Amino acid sequence: MSKPLALITGGASGIGLAFACRWIREGGRAALLDLRPDAVTSAVEQLGGPDVAVGRAADVSESASVEKAVQQIADSTGGAIDAVVNCAGIARPAMAASSTDSEWSGLVDIHLNGTMRVNRAAYPFLLESKRAAIVNLSSVAATSGMPGRSSYCAAKAGVEGLTKALAVEWAGDKIRVNAVAPGYVNSAMTAGLVAAGSLRLEPVLTRTPMSRLAEPEEISAAIFFLASQESSYITGQTLYVDGGMTVDGNWY
Ligand code: NAD
Repeated sequence: MSKPLALITGGASGIGLAFACRWIREGGRAALLDLRPDAVTSAVEQLGGPDVAVGRAADVSESASVEKAVQQIADSTGGAIDAVVNCAGIARPAMAASSTDSEWSGLVDIHLNGTMRVNRAAYPFLLESKRAAIVNLSSVAATSGMPGRSSYCAAKAGVEGLTKALAVEWAGDKIRVNAVAPGYVNSAMTAGLVAAGSLRLEPVLTRTPMSRLAEPEEISAAIFFLASQESSYITGQTLYVDGGMTVDGNWY
């Protein structure tokens, strides 16, 4: 049996790259799809080169770009895709009252519409697998109202709804669909928010019972569980990996 193939959007950085590393370590092959061509090239090299990884530059906010990249990946790897992990994303805070249409739709188009586009483009190739699984990336923002993050909160709540709908629609096709919702992760996205003055880590750590950020590898471990046969009867679920943030009731 050939090595299982995982298609990973946003795979050139952070959680996506950590998952690619884990998937390859466990005996799989990774296909990275990311906006930044140079980052894709260096991530493929870092992962061990063409025997275990391929990469395509593509923009998940454009259907034609996604369809072309997914087709090229399938053509160059043998046709079947065993796992899709949707990590492509940006953080671009904006206060709701003064935000523009393009700020709103630009973010929703990557996180929510992009997740749908990639899953739809991969669907015919997932059908070729006998063990297909999709893992979408949600966030603690799906369940918490965060000022300045309305588009992100709405998009991630949408990702959880989409996850349930696809899980039911594609269960008969033997494609499982789940989501992972991280708390704050030690990645470029979080560092960018801190550097821009849009996030202070001190209140985040106070609000996290485990009092620390997650490492990308701790999130990718949960993604790996949901992408692998270890979770063969789990579909339509969102697994929160947040150091206790969303269950914290310690306000007395
Ligand atoms: P990251 O910034 O390290 O990686 C995101 C990757 O997505 C980058 O390589 C970037 O080039 C790529 N990307 C951005 N726009 C794209 C587009 N239009 N098309 C294709 N690729 C694109 O971020 P990360 O922390 O690894 O985040 C991964 C996912 O996890 C995101 O969906 C994010 O919302 C979610 N998440 C992150 C955190 C966190 O604290 N970092 C918390 C909760 C959820």
